[in-house]
Amino acid sequence: MRIAMIGSGYVGLVSGACFADFGHQVACVDTDAAKIARLNDGRMPIYEPGLDELVARNVQAGRLTFTTDLARGMAGAEAVFIAVGTPSRRGDGHADLSYVHAAARDIAAHLGSSFTVVVTKSTVPVGTGDEVERIIRTANPAADVAVASNPEFLREGAAIADFKRPDRIVIGVEDSRARRVLEDVYRPLYLNQAPLLVTGRRTAELTKYAANAFLATKITFINEMADLAEKVGANVQDVARGIGLDNRIGPKFLNAGPGYGGSCFPKDTLALVKTAQDHDAPTRIVETVVQVNEQRKRAMGRKVIAAMGGDVRDRLVGVLGLTFKPNTDDMRDSPAIAIIQTLQDAGARITAYDPQGVAQARQLLTDVTYASDPYAALDGADAMVLVTEWDAFRALDLARVKSLLRQPVVVDLRNVYRPEEMARHGLAYTGVGR
Ligand code: NAD
Repeated sequence: MRIAMIGSGYVGLVSGACFADFGHQVACVDTDAAKIARLNDGRMPIYEPGLDELVARNVQAGRLTFTTDLARGMAGAEAVFIAVGTPSRRGDGHADLSYVHAAARDIAAHLGSSFTVVVTKSTVPVGTGDEVERIIRTANPAADVAVASNPEFLREGAAIADFKRPDRIVIGVEDSRARRVLEDVYRPLYLNQAPLLVTGRRTAELTKYAANAFLATKITFINEMADLAEKVGANVQDVARGIGLDNRIGPKFLNAGPGYGGSCFPKDTLALVKTAQDHDAPTRIVETVVQVNEQRKRAMGRKVIAAMGGDVRDRLVGVLGLTFKPNTDDMRDSPAIAIIQTLQDAGARITAYDPQGVAQARQLLTDVTYASDPYAALDGADAMVLVTEWDAFRALDLARVKSLLRQPVVVDLRNVYRPEEMARHGLAYTGVGR
C-alpha cells in the first residue's frame, strides 16, 4: 500500500520508517526543507536508537522516500497520515491545532478522485477529526475521502520497538472503508498478536489523552509518596515495589523523580484539562497533577540548594543529564531546564554533560558550560546532580567522582545509586524519597 506521512519528526519519521519496514511504500513529507535534505543525505534529524539503520535499509529497498513536495508525496496514497506537532498554545494551554489544520488544507488540495483515508496520528483534542473533515470537504467537495484517528503511543528512546510491538493499536473510524484501509496498514502487526481496538473517532482521540493523563498521574502519585517518605523516614522505592507487585497497580511508572517532562505529558495533560473545562466536565485530578508536577521541578532545584547547605551563590554545580529521559535528544519541557534555572536564580554556576541533548539544550538554557564527558562536568564542582538516568551515569567511578568534586555532595534525582555505596566513598548523598 502507498502511504504518505505528513510531518517527519519524532513520530512521523519513526512511523513512516516502520510502515516501510512492514513492506508498504511510504513517502515522508515535511515543510522543513533542511530536515528533508538531511534525510535525503542519509543523516538523521533526531537521535533515536536504531533509526538510522532502519531508515537506511528501507531507503535502499526503495520503500521509503523523503520530500517537501506534498503532491509528489501523496501521489497514489491510499492513507495520508498527519503527524505534525500539536504544542501548547501560548497563553492558555489549549493544543495549538494550527499545524494540523494547515496540513488538512494542504492535503485537501492534492486529493485525487480515488478513495483516500486521512488519518490523524498527532495527539489532538476530541473533535479535531470533525474539524479536519470539515476543512477537507469545504476545500475539496468532490474528494472521495474519510477522516480517521490513529493516536500514537510510542515512547522516545524505545520508539521503534514500541511501534513494532505495541501494547495496542487504536483506530477511530466513522466509515467502514476507512476501517478496511487501516486494517491493511496494520495487518503485519496484528498478525503478530497486537490488539487492534476499533472505536469511534472521538473515542480514539480521548483515549490518547486519557492514557497520558493516567500515566502522568501515576508518576505524580509516587512523587508525592516520595516527599512523604522523606518526612516519615520511609523508603519510596520499597513502597513502589510493595504496591507495584499488586497486579491491579502494576510496577511501571512508579519511579520517584524530578517530575515528568518531555514533548507529550506536560502539553497533553494541560490540553485535556482545557478540553474538560470547555465541556463542563472538569478533570480535577488531572488539574492537580499538572499543578503538583509544575511546582515539583523548581522544588528539585531547591532540594539541590538544601543539599549544598542552603547557599549556592558563586558555587559550581555539575549536572549530569539534560534530556527529559535517556536515549533521546529531546529537551522539550525537560525538568532539567527548571532545575538549572532555579540554581542559576540562586546564584549558582552550571557545568553540564548530556550524551545527546546538548544541541537542543543550547537553544533553551543560557550561561551553561557544556562538558565533553561526565567527569569533566564534575571537575571542581561543589556538587554533582544526576538529573537524567542515562546508562553512562549508572556505573560512575565513585572514587574518581570524589576526587574531582570540591565538595563531596551528590544529589541523585533518579535514585540510580545506593546510599551505602555513596557513603562508602565519602560522598554526602541525597536521593528522592529515601
Ligand atoms: P515534531 O515537532 O518532532 O515533528 C513535527 C514535524 O511536522 C516537524 O518536522 C515539522 O516541520 C512538520 N510539519 C509541521 N507542519 C507541517 C505541514 N503542514 N506539512 C508537513 N510537515 C509539517 O513532533 P513529534 O514529537 O513528532 O509529535 C508529533 C505529534 O505526535 C504531536 O501531536 C505529539 O503530541 C504526538 N506524539 C508524540 C510522541 C513523541 O514521543 N514525540 C508520542 C506520541 C504522540
